Amino acid sequence: MVAEKSKKIIVLGGGFAGTWAAYNLAVSGHTVFLLEKRPVLGGLSRVCKINQNYYELGSHLFHTDSQPLLDKFQSLFPGEFLEVERFFRIKFNDQFFRYPLTMVDIIRGLGFKTNLQCFVSLVFYLVKGKLKKVKYQTAEDVLIYRFGKKLYTVFFEDYIEKFWGVHPRQLDASFAIRRISRLDVSDFFKKIFVFFQDAFKFRRKASPGTTGSQKDKFIEPVVGKLFYNKHGGMHRIFEKLASEIKSHGGHVFTEVRGLHMGVQGERATQVAFECLGEHHELTCDEVISSIPLSELVKSIQIPQKKDIEQNLEKIRYRSLIVVGILVKRSSVMPSLLTYYRNLSFNRLTEPKNYGLEIYPKGCTILLAEVSCEKTDRLWQEDDLVKKQVIGDLVRENIIQEEEVLEVHVLKDEHAYPVFLNDYPVHLEQIASWLSQFENIYSIGRQGMFQYVNQHVVMKMAEKVVENINANLTKKQAGQHYYYY
Ligand SMILES: Cc1cc2nc3c(=O)[nH]c(=O)nc-3n(C[C@H](O)[C@H](O)[C@H](O)COP(=O)(O)OP(=O)(O)OC[C@H]3O[C@@H](n4cnc5c(N)ncnc54)[C@H](O)[C@@H]3O)c2cc1C
Repeated sequence: MVAEKSKKIIVLGGGFAGTWAAYNLAVSGHTVFLLEKRPVLGGLSRVCKINQNYYELGSHLFHTDSQPLLDKFQSLFPGEFLEVERFFRIKFNDQFFRYPLTMVDIIRGLGFKTNLQCFVSLVFYLVKGKLKKVKYQTAEDVLIYRFGKKLYTVFFEDYIEKFWGVHPRQLDASFAIRRISRLDVSDFFKKIFVFFQDAFKFRRKASPGTTGSQKDKFIEPVVGKLFYNKHGGMHRIFEKLASEIKSHGGHVFTEVRGLHMGVQGERATQVAFECLGEHHELTCDEVISSIPLSELVKSIQIPQKKDIEQNLEKIRYRSLIVVGILVKRSSVMPSLLTYYRNLSFNRLTEPKNYGLEIYPKGCTILLAEVSCEKTDRLWQEDDLVKKQVIGDLVRENIIQEEEVLEVHVLKDEHAYPVFLNDYPVHLEQIASWLSQFENIYSIGRQGMFQYVNQHVVMKMAEKVVENINANLTKKQAGQHYYYY
């Protein structure tokens, strides 16, 4: 779509949301300035080339449920992203299952006695929930009333605490409602019945590791077909989008420091920053921000910010460390990725199985994802995290120590928004404070403080660009502080 009127637009943050917004603005005829603090674009989807290989911040697959978005993506990268067969696993109670786990898998993994306890507890909480009309306050309430206390204790409680760094009691109810889909209870009872038939040999056992129907999946499934580029994964997307932005007269700045946004009344009028030792000052018609909310508010130069800064301190992120290991073996796992529940890492991916070319030939790469706090020793001491991850890989018999050729550590501070009990209140305060500025839009995983995938942040970016092109103000478009 071509803009009704060409504008000068500054885009903050060069992850998927910001880069996609900048690209769409540039091809619509606007003058765009994309500002990114890191040396490379990509944000959470970034890829680092180290020696001969590409190391990703956790392997990323492109997928979407939107045909127009997929068509646009395919036309930008014709033949470059190939479809990958979905094969995810989870190790649970010393057995591997297809992921997402189904209720049947859990029943198989738990054994007869625990299953019976889970069943009794589930019936108890289902009946109690119906009689009492419970109002869920925390993620723990939701999980107990949906799955029963026993299954909550054996399956969810410790794992959630390990991954998120807080007990499910400290997480808002919406965390469990959004992240963990409701079980179809009649389906569950049918499966329990089948399990008891199996246990007493009334019917032939099905093979373990089979997937169930969509509705009993334990988390929101990844939508649509999966796509990957064997020459560096997501790296290719940012390389191409940056070159398209520039060829349409736009500008891309990396290693940007010290953002200062000047405002007059309800409008941002100017952005100043340092880049590679040079000071820049740009006037602007609009600002689209995909940087964390705290960074955005910090950059806005107005004196009355104390209340809002207190709210910002209350919304927290879980950080991510990815340990990339070059292994002298042609293949380690059969799956694209495997989830682990009791090791130093939560997830292990082998990008060669996605199609990534690895050098030298005959070697593979493993990416181990560790979630932690920025205050943890693991975050500060690379040698410690390397030692723990390699130690676990060797103990689990996944690799041998002498097969390790290279080890690299990648990090991101803002990997996972943590939905603490009171986060909706604080987020609403921040949103309403930002809504006073009619030409500052906050989008993306960071700008909306949402746990969303690439295709969702791309759609947010497209929506803002559509409204800017149509010359609609935020109020006219009926939006609050963000667009989605
Ligand atoms: C381990 C992992 C695996 C994932 N796998 C998938 C997958 O397979 N498929 C999928 O669709 N999604 C996946 N996701 C989600 C996906 O990574 C995100 O949805 C997407 O990258 C978010 O993009 P964004 O632009 O909204 O945010 P970000 O990528 O976080 O971008 C924000 C950008 O702002 C920059 N920035 C911050 N502060 C400043 C500042 N002061 N000045 C300038 N720039 C600044 C940051 O450096 C960053 O580049 C995964 C996420 C993780 C953590």
